[in-house]
Amino acid sequence: MLAAAPGDPPRGGLRPRRRLLWGALLLLVLALLGVLAYLAAEYEEVRDQSALEADAEALASDLRSALVRNVQTLQSLYSIAASPGAWSAPAGEVLAEHREIVRLEWRDNSRALIAHRDTPYLADLFSYLDRSQALPDMRQACDNAQRSSGPSYSPSYFWPMNGGLGLELMDMCLPVVRNGKPAGFLVATYSLPGLLAELGNKNLLRGRGLAFIDTDGTRLALYSSVSGSRRTQVARALLDLPGHTILLRLESPRLGTGAAFGLLPNVLTAVVGALSLALLAVLGLLGRDMRLRQRAEHELGDALAFRKAMENSLVTGLRARDMSGRITYVNPAFCQMVGLPPEQLIGTGLPAPWWPPELVDEYQQRQAVRLAGQTLPREGYESVFQRSDGTRFPVLIIEAPLIDAQGTQTGFMSAILDLSEQRRIEDLNRASQERLQATARLATVGEMASLLSHELNQPLAAIASYASGTLNLLDEPPGASGPALPSGELRQAIQRIGEQAERAGRVIKSVADFVRRREQVREAVAPASLIDAILPLLGLQAKKQGIRVQTQIAPGCPPVLCDRTMVEQVLLNLARNGVQAMPASDPPAASGLRVLTLAVSRTRLHASDDDTPATPPRKVWVEFAVTDHGHGLSEAVRQQLFTPFFTTKAEGMGLGLSLCRTVIEQHGGALTYEPALPRGTVFRFTLPGA
Ligand code: ADP
Repeated sequence: MLAAAPGDPPRGGLRPRRRLLWGALLLLVLALLGVLAYLAAEYEEVRDQSALEADAEALASDLRSALVRNVQTLQSLYSIAASPGAWSAPAGEVLAEHREIVRLEWRDNSRALIAHRDTPYLADLFSYLDRSQALPDMRQACDNAQRSSGPSYSPSYFWPMNGGLGLELMDMCLPVVRNGKPAGFLVATYSLPGLLAELGNKNLLRGRGLAFIDTDGTRLALYSSVSGSRRTQVARALLDLPGHTILLRLESPRLGTGAAFGLLPNVLTAVVGALSLALLAVLGLLGRDMRLRQRAEHELGDALAFRKAMENSLVTGLRARDMSGRITYVNPAFCQMVGLPPEQLIGTGLPAPWWPPELVDEYQQRQAVRLAGQTLPREGYESVFQRSDGTRFPVLIIEAPLIDAQGTQTGFMSAILDLSEQRRIEDLNRASQERLQATARLATVGEMASLLSHELNQPLAAIASYASGTLNLLDEPPGASGPALPSGELRQAIQRIGEQAERAGRVIKSVADFVRRREQVREAVAPASLIDAILPLLGLQAKKQGIRVQTQIAPGCPPVLCDRTMVEQVLLNLARNGVQAMPASDPPAASGLRVLTLAVSRTRLHASDDDTPATPPRKVWVEFAVTDHGHGLSEAVRQQLFTPFFTTKAEGMGLGLSLCRTVIEQHGGALTYEPALPRGTVFRFTLPGA
């Protein structure tokens, strides 16, 4: 619960730790990727190396078997060419067919030359240096061949040629046997580059370098080399020939780690690289996601803090209940209202701790209604709560269902307004209104004091004259003018005195009745009796100004529910205003308009009623209309008509109309005005029928 939630953990400490963890994760992943890529490249290299070595072996064995086939071809030469003369032609054919052989010689047993033939492809091979320069190597090979009765190869030697060029050559000596006897030797001179070019398997050599090398690494003959300065993989294979062994070197551009910065190293490394990139991308996305999340958390925290601050600043009490009536949340304003800490409120069920014991039954019923799923009035309802110290206070409760994110109702949220202060102000208002009314009444009386004295003068003068007449009668000596004291006249005079005294008493009583302040009571009063009550007072002024007061009470008018004194005051005010609007000779007596009409009728509607003609009226209303034919209301007067203390009269207070309106509105009615015909003003007000 928010009100009881412990403080949030400090966010500052978490951030460096989270960064550290992220950094460590990134480092580990990078290290892992590095090792993976290295191992993949390493594996590739080893695999490539062994493939290259196998290819080198295959090339060596190809060369070996080609040389063996050549030996057989050369041996067959003697079966078709018996004499040196006949030998030359087939020897030429062999040379034309085998570009790797540059010279064929037939030597006798003492190694002397019988016949020879040079390759047609290299015309000037022996023009720079004489063949005899190579004899020691050839002799050694022939010695070996004689010993082993098989072909024997000499070590290779460099044979310079014209123009600074040269070739690496190697002699092969084959003993010739005819009819079971040695018949000399056949010496074939091989060109090492020719051997590589003619006998090597071309398929294995694409993009690779192939060369014969010496044991010390010197390159003897080259068929092809790897272009560029890229690192290469090298495999060596031994081409062991009878009498001599040569090293074959096969090199291939390295595709492993050496080409890591090339476009596509090889499949495995590429896959590992792609996976690493994907992993890094995922890591990046995760980081981004984390950042977004962090930001959202931040914003949520801010929003929460904002909400909390808002709730704490509220003077309205907030309270949430679950569906079983248990309190799940209260805000500080509510705690303050009922005088209990949140810990004592949250989790409590029914009856609630703030229910006054005498009202528990009523409140339980209300809860039952609420839990039965009936909607409570949106405008709220008034209730009474009890503070922890036992004092009661009025509240206004506005309830709404609590709906969770899934749209299901989980309880009720109530806003509670403490009405104590409002009630106090209302009471104060009412008291001051009443005081104002009383003051206005007294002021009216004050204004009318002169009229009163005038009115009282008449009965008092009559009483005085009747009294002196009576005294005169009593003073007359008996029998002086005939019969004894006339008891009939005396009685009449005294009766008149009594009547006049009564009349004076009524005038005084009407004023006393009007002035006396009474408690506000609503009672059913007949409209006629309201008018009758003000007529004597109104008559005083009207008569003086020559105005006729006329009353019209529609038949069947129901009594009105009102505070009698107040409404009398309203009527008197409006009527007096009407009389005052018709000073002497305006309107002139001849016009017949010096009339003030007090009319009462029954009406169905009044200004603030929400009934429409389509629906039957809920209440009966009675309308009072006070019509004068005076000077009417100017625009300027209309603007301020109901403003307190606005008056156009020298002796006026300007309170009359504003008080009238307050009184009528307190009764639920409305006060309106409009021009009268042919001149003057009509003031109308409505009161509820009893
Ligand atoms: P007061 O009567 O003390 O002046 P009211 O509030 O009753 O205070 O009236 C305010 C003003 O409204 C009056 O001064 C007058 O100018 C005007 N007034 C009220 N009733 C009428 C009326 N029937 N005809 C013309 N003017 C009126």
